[in-house]
Amino acid sequence: MSKKYLIVGGGIAGLSLSWQLQKQGISFQLIDQGISNSSSKIAAGMFNPVSGKRMTVSAEAHNMLASLDEMMEEMEALLQKKLYVKAPILQAFGNVKEANDFSAHLDRPSFATFVDANPTIDCKLEKEFGYFQVNGSGWVKTVEWIEAYQNYLEAEGKFTRAQFSYDGLIEQDGKWTYADETYEGIIFCEGSLFSHNPHFNWLPFKLCKGQVLLINCAGLNPSYILKRGVYLVHQYEDVYKVGATYEWEYEDALPTADGLNQLLEKLKQMISLPFEVLDQYAGIRPTTRDRGAILGEHPERKNLFVFNGLGTKGMLQAPLLAKNFAAFLQEGTTIPKQVSVQRFISFYSNGQ
Ligand SMILES: Cc1cc2nc3c(=O)[nH]c(=O)nc-3n(C[C@H](O)[C@H](O)[C@H](O)COP(=O)(O)OP(=O)(O)OC[C@H]3O[C@@H](n4cnc5c(N)ncnc54)[C@H](O)[C@@H]3O)c2cc1C
Repeated sequence: MSKKYLIVGGGIAGLSLSWQLQKQGISFQLIDQGISNSSSKIAAGMFNPVSGKRMTVSAEAHNMLASLDEMMEEMEALLQKKLYVKAPILQAFGNVKEANDFSAHLDRPSFATFVDANPTIDCKLEKEFGYFQVNGSGWVKTVEWIEAYQNYLEAEGKFTRAQFSYDGLIEQDGKWTYADETYEGIIFCEGSLFSHNPHFNWLPFKLCKGQVLLINCAGLNPSYILKRGVYLVHQYEDVYKVGATYEWEYEDALPTADGLNQLLEKLKQMISLPFEVLDQYAGIRPTTRDRGAILGEHPERKNLFVFNGLGTKGMLQAPLLAKNFAAFLQEGTTIPKQVSVQRFISFYSNGQ
């Protein structure tokens, strides 16, 4: 009989992993409790090979984009839905220093491959200090994808809409039984809710709350992502998502007036068109102490696995990480050090 795994959590992590397991012919069941403000549902779903203020480009950027392409093209064909939009980012500098820093980065071939320093696109971006274009970027319509793929898996009998109860897990001869079904292993993909998991709650997450707005704004070109302090990503008709805040200290996962003001202030520096705020959302990113994802097996409990810590860049990272993880399960390949759970082993030992 073939090995069967239970995946706990059906956000970007759990769904990307189930896609890979399905491709590799590995059986699985996915369980998700369907919370409406999961990070994956709040996210703009953007992927951008250029990261942060320092404009770093991961050595894996091309592989990550290729895996994302593969996954989303297969998802669109399977689910018969438009879920994946490739769109350049038009990014304005906020001041002269940012413009100068950018010029210095152009010497790096890894950066220059993804960047057009002299775009000539007519857009409504406020760009008095200049702007540049990032290629290889775009967004995944995460809410539509999650709903459609979960529905598909449910119709296939591979998806359970329920809360996973950690007390219900029973170990027997190295295998795990849950709800009367025996699994080769359990793979935990609970995002920021990892702290409820008694087996992996020792991992050093440093969660980051994020807030976004939904606005209506006529006159923008929906084929581009605009960026200046915040980003604007098209949703439908004249509706755009504006994000995001990065809050390392917070009281709860709810939208706040402070979050609204921060986003509005930056938005007004980015565009001068009139707009109306339709809604505001907040979610918690599963960010880790060193910002790397966390993949691998529990240090002591055999066949309990974690696939988490996607942080601020879930969409770009998840498909390639899922490929690595499936190879690790199937062929015993090594998980890259920078994303392996092994690097945090001292947090487990110290907590025992
Ligand atoms: C405001 C904001 C904007 C963002 N924008 C982007 C962006 O543009 N691009 C990008 O790549 N990333 C973005 N992110 C980050 C991205 O959302 C995360 O990297 C990603 O969603 C993490 O996915 P996940 O599946 O690990 O976690 P989650 O999305 O949190 O999913 C975890 C799932 O596990 C389920 N679960 C947990 N515990 C249980 C249990 N006991 N039983 C059953 N189910 C359970 C939950 O219901 C949930 O569905 C953003 C995040 C925020 C907050």
